[in-house]
Amino acid sequence: MSRQGTGANTFPRVFVSRRASAVSRASDQRSAEEPNRRGRGGRRGGRGGWKDTSAASESAAPEPQEPPLCFRVKSDLVRFVIGRGGSKIRDIQSTTNTRIQITKRYPEAEVKIFGSKVMQTKAKAVIDTIVQKQEENYNAESRVSNAAVQSSTGQNVSTDNNVDTEDEIDWDQIREDALKWKKQKWADLPPIKKNFYIESAETSSMSQMQIDHWRKENYNVMCDDLKDGEKRCIPNPTCKFEDAFQCYPDIMENIKRAGFQKPTPIQSQTWPIVLQGIDLIGVAQTGTGKTLSYLMPGFIHLDSQPLARGKRLGPGMLVLTPTRELALQVEAECSKYSYKGLKSVCIYGGGDRDGQIQDLTKGVDIVIATPGRLNDLQMNDFVNLKSITYLVLDEADKMLDMGFEPQIMKILLDVRPDRQTIMTSATWPHAVRRLAESYLKDPMIVYVGTLDLVAVNTVKQNVIVTTEEEKRSHIQIFLESMSPKDKVIVFVSRKAVADHLSSDLILRRLSVESLHGNREQSDREKALENFKTGKVRILIATDLASRGLDVHDVTHVYNYDFPRNIEEYVHRVGRTGRAGRTGVSITLLTRNDWKVATDLINILERANQSIPEDLVSMAERYKANKEKKEMGKKMGRSQGKPKKFYD
Ligand code: AMP
Repeated sequence: MSRQGTGANTFPRVFVSRRASAVSRASDQRSAEEPNRRGRGGRRGGRGGWKDTSAASESAAPEPQEPPLCFRVKSDLVRFVIGRGGSKIRDIQSTTNTRIQITKRYPEAEVKIFGSKVMQTKAKAVIDTIVQKQEENYNAESRVSNAAVQSSTGQNVSTDNNVDTEDEIDWDQIREDALKWKKQKWADLPPIKKNFYIESAETSSMSQMQIDHWRKENYNVMCDDLKDGEKRCIPNPTCKFEDAFQCYPDIMENIKRAGFQKPTPIQSQTWPIVLQGIDLIGVAQTGTGKTLSYLMPGFIHLDSQPLARGKRLGPGMLVLTPTRELALQVEAECSKYSYKGLKSVCIYGGGDRDGQIQDLTKGVDIVIATPGRLNDLQMNDFVNLKSITYLVLDEADKMLDMGFEPQIMKILLDVRPDRQTIMTSATWPHAVRRLAESYLKDPMIVYVGTLDLVAVNTVKQNVIVTTEEEKRSHIQIFLESMSPKDKVIVFVSRKAVADHLSSDLILRRLSVESLHGNREQSDREKALENFKTGKVRILIATDLASRGLDVHDVTHVYNYDFPRNIEEYVHRVGRTGRAGRTGVSITLLTRNDWKVATDLINILERANQSIPEDLVSMAERYKANKEKKEMGKKMGRSQGKPKKFYD
């Protein structure tokens, strides 16, 4: 489709006003006159898509027109009419040769369509269809969720403050229907078995002092029971593999083959919990052995269900991960430790959809998936999730960061509520707690390090305060000084920077790979493979690669651009210093990053790192500037500066 043009017969830009009512009343009169003032081909000023109507050009040639066709649309539904990046409304305008103006007010937005009578009607019909469809979806969803909320809280919930729905809606009936529907949906499910743990004599004989000592020595592992009311006993850690899997010789065989010496701290503490069938939250980063902490008990769970594997109607284990890379990595672990012929499949966006559908229909035990693609296949009935009894939400914080919550919600509507659920997360912010409250039942929590940010103390963290212009020379000096055994991930903020930097370095005869979302999936996999095997020792990546990647021998992390938040910094730095090794990170910081300086100082302090003077003065300057601004704002207000009514 063409760009927003100014051709004589097109009205490619839509105007959305966000003024508060006092201002919008005034602008109403102006906007009613607009067609005459602007004319069809008028300059519609401004860079952005959604420009305030009153900013229209005065210079446009006036042209007589039909009066606008005016109507109202629920404000909540306006975004569906506009479409992503304005695509839908641009289509409507160009196909109907109209110009559409939407003035946002609550609860209803005002829509005005300018153009010929016939075309106005046509454009309105298109908008009506969009709105009607969304309303149907919305009503269906909110009816079910309201009823669900009410059935658990016993309260009536109205979604629209301005509409008194009490007279029209029979809440009791809806509640009853929802309960009936729920019962029906989960009727006839086979029974679940969850407890497979037999504590070894050695584990049960541990004294409290020994347990405390072990936890302290093992990265300060901490545990808690989040069940309301009377707390359960936190199981003693299983310090040896035999302590957890003595009754499962095939698992022991796999572990022996892998050559592992002993369980990692997170494994020791989570296995006795998960093997008992208790829901678990594991706060741990990649590299801590968290994948096997849920996979091993999961294998046992799948193989030991009362209903034989051959008789189940679908997969028994579902692992949701935020990225394709992590999904592939979990799948690799699954296949590596394959247990009693359990079959797994990896479902991710960008991969071969038909191939994934074929794999699913052949019959699998374990599905490892990113939420978007799985939701797509679920909606199209290619996968039956009702048979899932063991659910894992891996790197839940990252999934929320990436905006997957709606897809997770939809996926979990189809997973039986009495399943066992494990959630892992590198951090424990409010949003992750909320997710845990919604989807886990009486969980225990196990975490390594502190609850907010897991301090990285196996990495020597260097910070260089510099300028944008000097960044190139800093990195060149660093890369040229690398020894042949060094391996570095260079993190950049944008795909374009990754491309520029890698072509620049290739021209300097350095062998590099790049990893970012614009590359084909096969190229990304190849790049990662080359980096893992050491064929290439410099990987330039956006934050896509900052978590979930399991490359043991990364010696350096180079933050060419500072990440969007301090948590991402911790994750990036955690790509080195893994599996008992030490690592080095170098972070370039410019004045654009000054607002993170204080947080960065805190992280460095906690990890006993030295703090450059430049960084301290940067933090001080930022603080002083913030205070000055706040003071200015207060003064402005007290001197009666006009209030802004719109953004
Ligand atoms: P993860 O945290 O799951 O990404 O695991 C990181 C790496 O540690 C993976 O390559 C695992 O195979 C490996 N690993 C898992 N458990 C152990 C263990 N007990 N001892 C040594 N390595 C392990």
